[in-house]
Amino acid sequence: MINFMLRSLLRGLKGIIYPKTCPSCKAKLKEAEEELICKRCCSQIKINLPPFCVLCGRHLEKENFNKNICPGCVRRKLHFDRAFSPCVYEGVTKKLIHEFKYKGKNILARPLSRIMINFIKEYNIPLDFLDLIIPVPLDNARLREREFNQSEELGIPIAREFNKEIASKVLLRHRRTKSQVELKDNQRALNVAGSFSVNKGINLNKKNLLLIDDVLTTGSTSSEAARALKNAGAQTVFVLTLAN
Ligand SMILES: [Zn+2]
Ligand SMILES: [Zn+2]
Repeated sequence: MINFMLRSLLRGLKGIIYPKTCPSCKAKLKEAEEELICKRCCSQIKINLPPFCVLCGRHLEKENFNKNICPGCVRRKLHFDRAFSPCVYEGVTKKLIHEFKYKGKNILARPLSRIMINFIKEYNIPLDFLDLIIPVPLDNARLREREFNQSEELGIPIAREFNKEIASKVLLRHRRTKSQVELKDNQRALNVAGSFSVNKGINLNKKNLLLIDDVLTTGSTSSEAARALKNAGAQTVFVLTLAN
């Protein structure tokens, strides 16, 4: 607790001592600018546009309009029911997520979660029937290294906005899997297989859940997490990530 307070105090100080710069392009932010991302970068964020694949939530190319599902999702088995993402994982968004995750800039959590909140509202994603919001956990070693779980940081403002309970202790992540970023697509599913379980004594029977993560790439991380939740009785698992 004291450590946490000290860190947040220091973080506050940093902002006072150093000029604030845009975390994406490093341009100096005007003092009056309340947002943490400069206007130019903000306008360059690539939005994920409909129609969406009914499984992974990616934009569907024209030739797949009538199938409602992308070619990638036809080929594989995903254990979640449906995924949603407001942004495309490239350019400014990719940079922001990198800063957020690896450079301890959890100050970015609020503006990034705001994008996710706006998306939920814009597309009327049904959250009413959901019982719990569950952030995809990090394993302990990685949590110590990074000091915060980016998925939880994104999930907290979302839970607050929609008056939902956020449950960070439901899912456990075990093995220190290699960072998915370093792996080829076909290695990713193997890398995360069996790496999640549900905390004993937690009843998920017939529960409807929303998993939160920063990025959905192949979907194998979210899929493994969803599999563990469904094995523990969950009825529906939706996934919401900032980007895909
Ligand atoms: Zn910028
Ligand atoms: Zn798909």
